[in-house]
Amino acid sequence: MFHGIDLYSDVVTQPTPGMRKAIAEAEVGDEQRGEDPTTARLESMAAAVLGKEAATFLPSATMANEIALRLHIEPGDVIIAAANAHIFFAETGGPAVHAGALARPIETNDGTFTGQDVERRCTWPVGPHFPRTRLVSVENTTNMDGGIPWDMNRLADVVSVAKRNNLKLHLDGSRLMNAVVASGVSADAIARSFDTVTLCLSKGLGCPMGALLAHAVCDTDRIRRLKQLMGGALRQSGMVAAAGIYALTHHIDRLADDHSNARYLAELLSDISDIVLEKPPATNMLFFRLRDPQKEKTFAERCLSNGIRFCLVGTNRFRAVTHLNITRADIERAVVLVRKSLG
Ligand SMILES: *Cc1c(COP(=O)(O)O)cnc(C)c1O
Repeated sequence: MFHGIDLYSDVVTQPTPGMRKAIAEAEVGDEQRGEDPTTARLESMAAAVLGKEAATFLPSATMANEIALRLHIEPGDVIIAAANAHIFFAETGGPAVHAGALARPIETNDGTFTGQDVERRCTWPVGPHFPRTRLVSVENTTNMDGGIPWDMNRLADVVSVAKRNNLKLHLDGSRLMNAVVASGVSADAIARSFDTVTLCLSKGLGCPMGALLAHAVCDTDRIRRLKQLMGGALRQSGMVAAAGIYALTHHIDRLADDHSNARYLAELLSDISDIVLEKPPATNMLFFRLRDPQKEKTFAERCLSNGIRFCLVGTNRFRAVTHLNITRADIERAVVLVRKSLG
């Protein structure tokens, strides 16, 4: 465990005392048999928040995404998503392994794209030679592309093109609540046109693990079968689901603090001439590089020994993520440590 100021990711959050209490007091049963009351409660709560008929609790958002892809497509079918989407860069090739997907990535500036970008990738003729374009996956907020919440007009454009072309729509809303808090648009309004929606509990929402896949009732049986197939069916999962209920109740509005801490970090780092910020943070993420790329390795090492951790996400590209264990005072201390690490 890293004992400094950990801006590596919002996955490093520790369960709060209130969350630990909810975990300790959870009523539990065998989830695999549908007998865990707390998991069932979380699932209906999440379905309501996301404006879907049903939701299924899963161990991780990766599994939620992979089940969704498997649900929507047949082997050989095409999925369209941003080139840096988590499903392409960080799920171990799962779309190919689990769903047999053919990927058509869209190169983007910020992880968002247009209806025309989609249209261009699904105008292939219909016939025995051609793979079928079947699914558009949208990441909101975008992760590697800046933690950006989608503009609602841009989203509506993608949705209408997808519908016109009979494509299914998946929302990788692992950080959907960051988009909700940053944009002021409700989760169900963002999720409305999507067939499936992933929500991660173990990022900014602060749970030790877990995710939800929201979907239509008619897909419940297939999703439960895929969950079992992937080894994701659980036993007394109410222990974890209780944390999810706690997070959906207490940890959404507070994401605004993480966003303001990210902006504060950007403001303080912008005074350091050795550091070049990519773009102003829109949610809880900030990306930067060093003016002198030669210093990357030493800087990364010195940061760790000085007690601050970032995620190195490419050549001379660092990501800082704020979360519920980072205070405004930590941000000030972080900047002192950055200066020290630059030497
Ligand atoms: C973290 C993340 C996931 C996967 O979440 P896990 O719960 O860690 O499996 C999926 N999509 C995006 C955009 C993410 O940031």
